[in-house]
Parts: sequence; structure tokens; C-alpha cells
Amino acid sequence: MSRVPLRRAIADVPAYVPGARAAVGAAAFKLSSNENPYPPLPSVVAAIADGAVDVNRYPDMFATELTEAVAHRLGVTPEQVVTGTGSVAVLGHVLAAVCEAGDEVVLPWRSFEAYPIAVTLAHAQQVRVPVHADGRLDLPAMAAAVTRRTRVVLVCTPNNPTGPAVRDAELRDFLAAVPGDVLVVLDEAYVEFVRDAQAPDAVALLAEHPNVVVLRTFSKAYGLAGLRVGYAVARPRIAAGIRTASTPFGVSHVAQLAALASLRAEGELLTRVEAVVAERERLLDGLRAQGWDVPDSQANFVWLGLGDRSVTFAERCAQAGVLVRPFAGDGVRVSVGEKEATDIFLEVAAEHAPR
Ligand SMILES: *Cc1c(COP(=O)(O)O)cnc(C)c1O
Repeated sequence: MSRVPLRRAIADVPAYVPGARAAVGAAAFKLSSNENPYPPLPSVVAAIADGAVDVNRYPDMFATELTEAVAHRLGVTPEQVVTGTGSVAVLGHVLAAVCEAGDEVVLPWRSFEAYPIAVTLAHAQQVRVPVHADGRLDLPAMAAAVTRRTRVVLVCTPNNPTGPAVRDAELRDFLAAVPGDVLVVLDEAYVEFVRDAQAPDAVALLAEHPNVVVLRTFSKAYGLAGLRVGYAVARPRIAAGIRTASTPFGVSHVAQLAALASLRAEGELLTRVEAVVAERERLLDGLRAQGWDVPDSQANFVWLGLGDRSVTFAERCAQAGVLVRPFAGDGVRVSVGEKEATDIFLEVAAEHAPR
């Protein structure tokens, strides 16, 4: 038994619960981690294979080519882009770059389960602001929760796991209300799936609000969850701070090449995103026709606020061959995947429908 004390906060860090995986040999649709149901494109697999022969070398520490490609794509300068091993890691680096011990980080709740973990590890204090019953963030309440001790506000849009995206007008009001020395992180992991015409253009907001950081990822729409690539877009001084806090050589050479290949194949990948969005609408329509009250998802998942029935409902789904993600006592998040998976899921949902 080791007597080495762990940091006291470590005991309070909630465990990240990964989405359920099928048992070895069992067939099931995995709708529990918001993954892209499509396998990588042949051109991306080829890039991964090309990179394999160089893995005795460290990767390009600054992911120069990828950083330039992302900057070019977004219309910003490369010094404004910081890559990392998934945007969850980048969020950790953002918090490490700005939080002093005891600083407050305002976040919506329920939201992404990685947030409380990241905030605690950054020696900061979380201040949770409940989301509305319809799954929307309460931005006025989040602005009102900002105190002199607040260093960061996390805005998850679309919000994982409830689904809605913030609207441009409410976000502008929010940014006007938040002091300029508080960092506003716009976590846009699902931005490619947003079809709400009133959604903001976060990168454009960055030009007007120097206290904004935008987080994006190759994990969801681009289907590279297994390779761990995400990035932050910020003003150069903030970006430099995030870079300083980053793990050196984090993004592997293979991941850099795969992300570059994905940007080159963007048209093809966004066609797949379009198919996922169409499937999301079919899923939402099916649920609503059964009488479910479902939030307006702008992402690749939908939310059922099942409360105490969440875990048993998820078990029933697993028996039927679809793995979903229950949040005990709160609700169930279902990723949009294969058509067959939607069909099975809708059958289970029908058995539990409110009417
Ligand atoms: C999936 C997700 C991310 C990104 O995860 P990475 O794989 O680490 O890039 C970030 N934020 C939210 C809200 C997510 O759901």
C-alpha cells in the first residue's frame, strides 16, 4: 500500500464514463459516444499508412502544415491556431494557460462531462448554471454568475448532451455582458452538424471579441476520433499562452497527416455530415411522432430526458442491439448512426413512449 498522498482534489474528480462498447463477439450498434458511423475515406487511410513509416521520429511539434491548413480554411492567421490531442486536451491547456488556483469557471449543466474534470485539474472552481428544460443554455444566467473571481466561461454549442445550439443574438448579448478580461470558450465540437440559421459564426465573433476562444475537433464530423486531433482558435497572445501550456509533440505525425487528408477530402466528408443530419431529422421526427418531447438537436445526437428511467431504458436498448449513453437520473443521449440503428432505437422508444 503506497503512502504517497494524492492531490486532495483528485479524490473529487468524477470519473469520465466512456460510452458503452459491445462485448467481444457481440453485434451491437454503438450510439454511445457521438462517433461518426462512417469508416475513414480511402484517401485518409492512405495518409495514415504513409505516416506509419516515419514513427521512429518525433512529429512536427507545431503541426505546421496542419495549423496553416486550418488557418487558411477559417480565414485566420496560423499564429491564432493551436492544435492538440483532441479538443478536450486543448481545453485543458486553455484552462492551464489562464486559471490561477481558486479561480472560478462558469459552465452550463448538464453539459459535457469532461468539463468538471478539466476545471478541477486546472485548480479552478466550477460554477454550474442549469440549462433550461428545453436543453438550451441559459446565457443570461451564465453572465449573471460571473463574479470578480471568474476567469473563464464555457459555452458548449451545440450543448452535449442536450443538443441545441446557442443563437447569434443571445450570444452577442452575452459577450456584451461578460467583462473583457474573462475568457469565453466556445466549444464547437459539433459545429458542422448545425443547421439552425440563427446560429453564430464563432470565428467571426473572435474578430470583435478578443476574449473569445473557439474549440473545434476532427473527432466528430471528420471521423478521426481515434487519432485525437482538435484545435483552438484565439487571438495571437492567448494562442501563444495555450501553446506554452500544451503537451510537447502531442499530435502524432500520423494524426497530422490524417487531419490534413481530411481537410483535402472535406467535400466528401461534409456530404456524409449531410446524411447524418438527414438521419438526425428522421430520428427526431420519429420520436416526436411517438409523443416524445425532444430538444432541438443541432448535433449528431438526441436527448431524451427520461429522469429515473434512464438506466433501465438504456439497458432495454442494449438488449435490442443499440448501445446508448444514460446519465443516471437525468436522461439518455443517443448518437445518430446507421439507419438500421435508428430503426431499432425507434422501436424501443415506441415501447416507452409517453403516449
Ligand atoms: C466530443 C467533444 C469534444 C471533442 O473531443 P475530442 O475528441 O477530444 O476532440 C469537445 N467538446 C465536446 C462538447 C464534445 O462532445
